[in-house]
Amino acid sequence: MPLNIVVCVKLTPSTANIEIDPATGSLRREKMSFAINPFDEYAVEEGVRLKERIPGSWVGALSLGAPDSEAALRESIARGVDEAFLISGPAFEGSDTFATGYALAMGIKKIAQIKGRVDLVICAKQTNDSDTGQVGPAVAAWLGWPGISFVKKVEEVSDKFLRLHRMMEDGYDVIEADLPAVIAVLKEINEPRLASLKGKMAAKKAAIPRWGAAELGVDESKIGRRGSPCAVAQQAAPPARPQGHRIQGGSPQEKAKQLVEKLQELKLI
Ligand SMILES: Cc1cc2nc3c(=O)[nH]c(=O)nc-3n(C[C@H](O)[C@H](O)[C@H](O)COP(=O)(O)OP(=O)(O)OC[C@H]3O[C@@H](n4cnc5c(N)ncnc54)[C@H](O)[C@@H]3O)c2cc1C
Repeated sequence: MPLNIVVCVKLTPSTANIEIDPATGSLRREKMSFAINPFDEYAVEEGVRLKERIPGSWVGALSLGAPDSEAALRESIARGVDEAFLISGPAFEGSDTFATGYALAMGIKKIAQIKGRVDLVICAKQTNDSDTGQVGPAVAAWLGWPGISFVKKVEEVSDKFLRLHRMMEDGYDVIEADLPAVIAVLKEINEPRLASLKGKMAAKKAAIPRWGAAELGVDESKIGRRGSPCAVAQQAAPPARPQGHRIQGGSPQEKAKQLVEKLQELKLI
């Protein structure tokens, strides 16, 4: 039977030069460039591969974020996703992973209403910014569905169950889970394709519905800062590394002697 699959994707910084406003402690977003979270490319690819493997299947992409998160959704369409949906609005600002998981779960329920059902949700293991790895399991918990992380292979899939390989330190587990389910996939699972020309044109033309709190019918006490049990006390860039000490001149023996003296002076040996 065909599957309805939803891939969760996030727009994240594509630069290592992150600046924090010392006055507010917030990221200076206007000074940064953003792209689809690189780990989510693997989640998108797996969704598209499963769609290709099971004829008649459908794959959608879902993101929670600022309006510019549409870029991650359009990139997903360019790589083969059929439709995309954005959850956005001031009520969601400040959401931690708990509130993010709830909002995404509500988005998935809304997609299930539109498409008849959702059988499988695919997240990546982590993002390259907040990098907690909590959102996939949180979505599973909010939906009350099985959640399996560290997935490196989808061995078998039917309309009732999945057989997966879950990466472990000393090998892998073979896990069977009932559908509907949420999985979080690793980079080892596939090699993402590049966007096709047809995909890029579809991405440009796609109308992406944007859902706020009212459209999703969320309980507003569970989203945004109010719905987030975590509070960021302070956010700051790491201190600049102090300048190193260069040992110069002399023979290798003299340099070695100077090095030992320096290490002794610093009480490192
Ligand atoms: C107290 C607090 C306040 C915060 N305030 C803000 C804020 O004001 N603005 C802000 O942008 N962030 C804020 N964050 C960060 C925000 O909570 C995280 O960005 C978000 O919950 C995702 O967590 P993560 O990046 O660790 O995802 P991970 O758990 O590492 O991501 C795993 C996977 O889950 C999916 N996923 C994760 N996030 C999303 C998403 N948003 N949409 C779709 N799929 C997703 C992707 O498939 C991803 O690969 C705040 C965090 C905390 C703790």
